[in-house]
Amino acid sequence: MSRLSWIKTALEVGVVTKKYPFERVEVPDGFRGLPIFDSGKCIGCTACANVCTPDAIKVVNDFTNGFRRIEYRLGKCIFCGRCADVCPVSAITITKEFELAYTGDVINAIEIKFIKCVQCGQYYTVSRHLKHVSSKLNDEALEGVDICPDCRRRSNINSLIHASGVFR
Ligand code: SF4
Ligand code: SF4
Repeated sequence: MSRLSWIKTALEVGVVTKKYPFERVEVPDGFRGLPIFDSGKCIGCTACANVCTPDAIKVVNDFTNGFRRIEYRLGKCIFCGRCADVCPVSAITITKEFELAYTGDVINAIEIKFIKCVQCGQYYTVSRHLKHVSSKLNDEALEGVDICPDCRRRSNINSLIHASGVFR
């Protein structure tokens, strides 16, 4: 193609670039930008942290003070959107926001209270998660949800021993 043809084509097509950042750039639908966490909806299930490959979501279980902390670290996020895909209560929204330059260490955190086992009194799960799971169980499955895994194990072993008739 001759130089004249290039100039002709360029004139026909017109300007295709934007004067960013002086002109706002619209991103397409499905663009994965900043994830936003809704602390009111989050049940503290940790599913988002489990799928976050760069470890941008950290779970801190504070058994002394009785709460679980879900921390989101912007500096580590690769904007894959997996956290939003797996959140069972749609507490994470992937926005189109991409202008995220910041010099500080950005950490957003949600804190959710633990509840205690009714048998041994130890913290064992977060209240909102238990409430969410309980709402999906029938009466039979609900039996024992208010006790910790250790107490449940002991209780199951005791039931098995009695049922076996070893000790009469
Ligand atoms: S978008 Fe991806 S990298 Fe960022 S917090 Fe969610 S799962 Fe982690
Ligand atoms: S997956 Fe959703 S509900 Fe579970 S901890 Fe993450 S934000 Fe909260």
